[in-house]
Amino acid sequence: MMLRVAEQYAATDTGRQRRANEDSLLARPPLFVVADGMGGAQAGEVASRLAVDAFEEGLGDTAAPESDLARRAGAANARIHELSHSSAEHAGMGTTLTAVYVAPEEVAIAHVGDSRAYRLRAGELVRLTDDHSLVDELVRQGKITPEEAVDHPQRSVITRALGPEPAVEVDTRSYSARSGDVYLLCSDGLTTMLPEERVAELMRLHPRLRDAAEALIAAANEAGGRDNITVVMFRLEDPSAPASSLAPPETEERTALAPEDLDGRGAADAVVAAGRSAERSEPGDLVATAPHPAQPRTPRAPTSARAPGGAHKRRRRLVAPAIALVVLGLLASGAYLAAQSVYFIGTNARGLVTLYRGVPYKLPGGVALYSSDYVSGVSAATLSPARRRTLLDHSLRSEAKATGLMHSLELGQLSE
Ligand code: MN
Repeated sequence: MMLRVAEQYAATDTGRQRRANEDSLLARPPLFVVADGMGGAQAGEVASRLAVDAFEEGLGDTAAPESDLARRAGAANARIHELSHSSAEHAGMGTTLTAVYVAPEEVAIAHVGDSRAYRLRAGELVRLTDDHSLVDELVRQGKITPEEAVDHPQRSVITRALGPEPAVEVDTRSYSARSGDVYLLCSDGLTTMLPEERVAELMRLHPRLRDAAEALIAAANEAGGRDNITVVMFRLEDPSAPASSLAPPETEERTALAPEDLDGRGAADAVVAAGRSAERSEPGDLVATAPHPAQPRTPRAPTSARAPGGAHKRRRRLVAPAIALVVLGLLASGAYLAAQSVYFIGTNARGLVTLYRGVPYKLPGGVALYSSDYVSGVSAATLSPARRRTLLDHSLRSEAKATGLMHSLELGQLSE
C-alpha cells in the first residue's frame, strides 16, 4: 500500500479579538506544519514564521522522518533563540510547532507546545499529540480535573516552546496510516474555543475538507474567537484501491497570500504568515493546487500507534447609623487607596506576564481589588520554572520595583 495526500485544505483566521495573526502554517505535501507564535508586537509572528520556514525545503527522501523532523525543529529553535537574544523587540519570543510528515504507510509527527494534531478515522477523532501546557501538567499531576482545565485562566500558558531555551525537547511519534484517514493540525485558537466532540461532529458533517475547515473556523469565531485560529487538514488515499473513490482527489488551499508571496513561492505551496491573513475572504485567496503524491521512500515499520453606598439619602432620625456608614466608607476607601499603591505581577488569561495594580484578592461577589496596569509581550511560558516562581508569585511590590522588573523582563534580562 502506498498512501498519498488526495485532498488538502489550509486556512488561518485572526479571530475576533486579536488585532494580528501570530500563527503560521505550511501545507506542502508530504509536509504539513502549524506554528503559534507568542511574544507580542511582531515577535510572535516572526517566531512562528521562522518555525515554519525550517520545513520549507521538505525532508527529501528521508528514511528517518521522526529524527529529521526533530532536527528541523531544533534548528528552528536555535534560530529563534538567537534572534530573541540579539534584538530587544524580539526578546522572549517563542512559538509552538506541530509538524506532520506523510510517509508511504505512516505519518510522523514532531511536536512542541499546545498546537495539536488529530486523526479522524471511521468517524472517530483521536488526538495524536499531548499538550505541553501548564494546565495539562496540573491535570497529569491530579491537581485539577480535566473539566477544570477547560476554563482554567492559565490554559494558554505553555511549558515548552521553540525559542526560550538554547535547546528544546521535541516529542516525535509515528502512527500507521490508512486510506481514508483525515488529519487535522490546529492552533489552540480552535481547541480552546471548541470541545473536541464539536470538532469531530463538524469534521464528520463535512466530508469536503474545505467545508470542514471553514465550519471549524466559523464555529470557533462564534464561540468568541479569542485567539488566532489555524486549521490544516489533509486526507490520505490509497490510489490503488479504487473502492474508496468517495471524494474526488481535489486539493485546494484557501490562504491569504499576498501577490508578492506568490512571486517568491510556487503557487502549489501555501506558506501563510499571519498578519496578512486578516483579509481572508478577498478574491484571490483561493489557491488551487495539484495533488502531490507522497514521495516514495524506504518503508519503515511504525514505531508506535498510539462599584458605593450612601445612595440612600432617605432622611432618618437616627444619625448614628449614618455616621457609622461614613466611617466605614472612609475605612474602605482608605483600604482601597492603600491597595492601589501596591503592585504585583502575574499572568493574564493569555498567559502573558502582566503588571497588576492593587492586591491579588477578590472580594466575595467577585469584586477584584486589582486591575491590569500593563500587559507585557512576554509569555510566562518563555520563563524558566525558577523565574516563573519568583516573578509570578503575586508578592506585593512598589510601583518602581514592579515596573523595573517588567522592563527587565521585556528586555530579555530575566529570561534565565
Ligand atoms: Mn494561540
